[in-house]
Amino acid sequence: MEQAETTMEAKRYRELARFFREHFGERVQKLSLDGGFSCPNRDGTKGSGGCTYCNNESFNPAYCREAGSITSQLQEGARFFAKYKGQRYLAYFQAYSNTYAPLEVLKARYGEALAFPGVVGLVIATRPDAVSEEILDYIATLAKERYVCIEYGVESVNEEVLRSIRRGHTYAEAERAIRMTAERGIRTGAHLIFGLPGEEPASMLEGVSALARLPLHVLKLHQLQIIAGTPMAETWRQHPERFRLYTEDEYLDFIVQVIERIHPDIYLERFVNQTPDTWLLAPKWGAKNHEFTAKVDKRLRESDSWQGKFFV
Ligand code: SF4
Repeated sequence: MEQAETTMEAKRYRELARFFREHFGERVQKLSLDGGFSCPNRDGTKGSGGCTYCNNESFNPAYCREAGSITSQLQEGARFFAKYKGQRYLAYFQAYSNTYAPLEVLKARYGEALAFPGVVGLVIATRPDAVSEEILDYIATLAKERYVCIEYGVESVNEEVLRSIRRGHTYAEAERAIRMTAERGIRTGAHLIFGLPGEEPASMLEGVSALARLPLHVLKLHQLQIIAGTPMAETWRQHPERFRLYTEDEYLDFIVQVIERIHPDIYLERFVNQTPDTWLLAPKWGAKNHEFTAKVDKRLRESDSWQGKFFV
């Protein structure tokens, strides 16, 4: 454990917040934006009902609601975080699919965000099937000057599970998009959900191992949550037996096994999602993100484990 301890200090995994502190020399705050984009899984191109678990309103912060211009949202966000003095920002295009528009529109939106005082880079959340070579070539020019990360919703590596949640894209497309992005020098992120119906712990761990062999900069992980107003919530009400939602303790055990299988160079941004109570139907753990992270740290120390321990 000595070598990993030296490189990851007190943390036994590579924490994204630490990367930001080292890269930018100070704390960097992500400011969420609604760029006014749509999603091919909602506008009829791939589907019209969206992914079965999705309710974008549940994760859009209040300052993005009834979104004004990019600039006014950034002003609101900066005001919200003003208590942290001397802070710089990453403009986080979060809502819907943030590469899903003509290139000229993307240039205008990203350009407006990058022109805002204190913004040092972009984080662009999108679907693996909503990028093209032309768009990636353009984003690569931004990535030469600023920090830019494209965060792909991969969600599962299991094609059957992706079909059942109506993602409208395959894991093969996710893998291709990640490679196309990384080979242009753009940082890549991936987002995974654990516990979707049809998943088993063993196959999810195999999936993590496969994903962690891709050229990723950062991984975001979270437990399946049933969110009000989604098709999945309806199925859960009618057929709860189809769901095997994690208890907090079970998930803690599982996430430690996940961390052990992730390439030691990949940064980890978070382990859980924290949906506001007004939207969350189940599971209701009540734990805040930082509280869960503290439990992960403790569990890793107690079991003398670390990121990449079983990476192959
Ligand atoms: S999760 Fe993303 S891809 Fe799926 S419907 Fe919602 S916005 Fe679209």
